[in-house]
Amino acid sequence: MQRQPLVIANWKMNGNRHLTSQLAEALRESGALLNDVSVVVCPPAVLLPAWQSEVFYDDVHLGAQDVNEHHAGAHTGEHSLQLLTETGAEYVLIGHSERRQLYGDSDDRVQAKVDAVLAFQEQKLKVVLCLGEHEHERDNGETFARIEGQLAKALANVSAAQLAHVVIAYEPVWAIGTGKTASPQQAQEVHAFIRNWLQQRYDAAAATVPLLYGGSVKADSAPALFAETDIDGGLIGGASLEPEAFLAICRAAQARRS
Ligand code: PEP
Repeated sequence: MQRQPLVIANWKMNGNRHLTSQLAEALRESGALLNDVSVVVCPPAVLLPAWQSEVFYDDVHLGAQDVNEHHAGAHTGEHSLQLLTETGAEYVLIGHSERRQLYGDSDDRVQAKVDAVLAFQEQKLKVVLCLGEHEHERDNGETFARIEGQLAKALANVSAAQLAHVVIAYEPVWAIGTGKTASPQQAQEVHAFIRNWLQQRYDAAAATVPLLYGGSVKADSAPALFAETDIDGGLIGGASLEPEAFLAICRAAQARRS
């Protein structure tokens, strides 16, 4: 089955209004490529309204970097699903390793967030579930056990029908923001494992789930990664702050279609 390539920009706590206009314009100018590649930008939540007006007529989608699992209430500093969708978000990153490591997103909390997103508004929002092993886990031969544990926990309550609203991003923790990219073979091996796990659990529904690789993807490393059978695109941090580099990565994803 051919899946539409997908490239997601994660700006983390970076970017501003100026960069919003710059990247939006660069994407607008390369409109042709957007026919073959889905592009999602996840800026800091306060920039979503600025992005919303920039991409009004373009096939660029918006995403949030996180969400609170509760509807509303006394959660100072947090953002609700309602608010994020009102400001244009169609995707939500859940379980990014920075959230897991720095902000207390345990496997339980990741599961609660996945469930909350999929239960919300007849599933109009898509979950981008981030998972990946630490360097010591890879060194100890525990990569697959770690990935399997994260998948089983996060998707425990997710049905085959809901899987149509799930994207999975494999992001080895040792490769995020470090400049160390997993080799295409290392990434493919884990992606094949994830695809196989999904197939065992969900049968045919597994075939539609986009599997993205993330971890220091740059314009020069993207083509070989995206050439692998089970790598449908990327989750891009640092390089998404440079419009030229990000576009080059989108073009590398587009090449999967040819
Ligand atoms: C990320 O933030 O998900 C990421 C992969 O960052 P970077 O590309 O900078 O490693």
